[in-house]
Amino acid sequence: MKIVTYNVNGLRPRIQQYGSLKKLLDSLDADIICFQETKLSKHDLRADLVRAEGYESFFSCTRTNDRGRSGGYSGVATFCRVKSAFLSNEVALPIYAEEGFTGLLATSKGYEPRKEESPSIAEGLECFSRDELLKIDSEGRCLITDHGHFVLFNLYGPRAVQDDSERIQFKLTFYKLLERRWECLLLQGRRIIIVGDLNIAPAAIDRCDAEPDFEKNGFRRWFRSLLVQNGGRLLDVFRAKHPDRNGAYTCWSQSTGAEEFNFGSRIDHILSAGSCLHDEENQEGHDFVTCHVAECDILMQFQRWKPGNTPRGCVNHKISTSTFHRWKGGRSIKLEGSDHVPVYTSLVEIPEVMQHSTPSLSTRYHPQVCGSQQTLVSMFTRRQTTEQVISEESESPQIPSHEEFISTPEKYDSRASHSMMIGSQRNTNILPGIEAKKKARHSQGSQLTLNSFFQKRTHRSETCSSRFTGSKLCQTDISYSQIEPNGVPSADDESGASIENTQKECQLDACDTDKEKRKVALQEWQRIHQLMQNSVPLCKGHQEPCVPRVVKKAGPNLGRRFYVCARAEGPSSNPEANCGYFKWAAVLKSKGKGK
Ligand SMILES: [Zn+2]
Ligand SMILES: [Zn+2]
Repeated sequence: MKIVTYNVNGLRPRIQQYGSLKKLLDSLDADIICFQETKLSKHDLRADLVRAEGYESFFSCTRTNDRGRSGGYSGVATFCRVKSAFLSNEVALPIYAEEGFTGLLATSKGYEPRKEESPSIAEGLECFSRDELLKIDSEGRCLITDHGHFVLFNLYGPRAVQDDSERIQFKLTFYKLLERRWECLLLQGRRIIIVGDLNIAPAAIDRCDAEPDFEKNGFRRWFRSLLVQNGGRLLDVFRAKHPDRNGAYTCWSQSTGAEEFNFGSRIDHILSAGSCLHDEENQEGHDFVTCHVAECDILMQFQRWKPGNTPRGCVNHKISTSTFHRWKGGRSIKLEGSDHVPVYTSLVEIPEVMQHSTPSLSTRYHPQVCGSQQTLVSMFTRRQTTEQVISEESESPQIPSHEEFISTPEKYDSRASHSMMIGSQRNTNILPGIEAKKKARHSQGSQLTLNSFFQKRTHRSETCSSRFTGSKLCQTDISYSQIEPNGVPSADDESGASIENTQKECQLDACDTDKEKRKVALQEWQRIHQLMQNSVPLCKGHQEPCVPRVVKKAGPNLGRRFYVCARAEGPSSNPEANCGYFKWAAVLKSKGKGK
């Protein structure tokens, strides 16, 4: 049995890259695939993005717009490769699935509705307020699936930069609560496997440029304190298998071209806790990893940068897009793929589990997915699925109760849970008549609703105007080399819209009256571009043209331009890597024009 974790940096672009969701999933060749940063919002969940033949899938999307994000950001998805979603003994098919980890997200229960009206707080978290818990669980950062022999956490840990105290607090609370949740499961004797992008490189060996006090950071200390060798209960499965491997990174900053010199960090993890499945009286020398983990490694073949991407001998060449193919401080050479690579583990001697059916959280039962008529293919798939559901349901599966359930349900009835799932969302019947038409119209992904169209437009014009007035330029970290002729801005690591998304929005906009305005703005931009290109300095280390950047950090220099060495970031010992050259740009006369 193989489990893969992969921060896809946008599920939509990855699907485009592979041609279809099924091809993407098949390329990972795993029984359980955990994606992070799907960047899909709830209304994005269409059949072609969430359903693939041979897989059951579970999604958690962000539910908050607190942080000025447009549409989806963050988000996790778990795909389970199964032969049957009904009356199956397969370990990959979850017995239970839960969105979030606080127990409060209503759609998470795969069983009959409980007697209480509202969902109840997960064990171990009762001392926290509902508001606090909901806030922590509202960003689509966790899916829990119970596979009988183990409970699997698919996590996307919050990212917090050093001086963002609010996000640091959020990250602290997130992990504090999460730890309580899995502690509770361990106390119940459950085995747990935690996978995902935790946004924490635990030790100096896991980071390219680790400074002497790297390991003193609170999150890193906390991470290491969880590990068995430090008195905790978790095993870092990758490190258990490769204790001394250096340069084993899973993520590279995409704004510095760091992949070229493997200047990265290991923040995507597979952790496990609990005993092995052997029935030995003496458990000495037995643990889950020793007895069941055959291998754990990083799938480097998914890395975007390949040696051919950066031909040498370009030194002293003038910047010209046709001949200069090196990564050049921008994203003008778009490397296809995620800035992360997948990590996998293969498990052995995991016996089948008792017969069960897929939990109602499966996208199979998602009304929007069932109701969407996106493509002819998905329409037929849907019909097939529906027929299957009906025929399977008529057999009325009898699921025996299981002592290892996270919260022991009395009886599982797929129809009951289905209706519960539906009941938990407004405007979701089984979609007859007018309701169905309404729903279909609403959920057609390619045809935006009027409402969302206007929302997107508003957001779009904001971005565009701010970019061209120059005053808010910093927000999107745009330097001129990152602007493509059609005005596509670059997207930051955690920013809401992917480049692809933005492109789509731009195309949308192209057909309205803003077009002319934008054309004028673009011309103005190109004029500034030209002005700047004439004054691009050469870097000290390589005597090559620099790239311009803009200060995006709040402070006295906000919005100010500067130049840096165009080469990719790498170890300072490597003369081929970025030489660290920096120079402020002269203030442009045209600054402020067009405001
Ligand atoms: Zn054993
Ligand atoms: Zn240089």
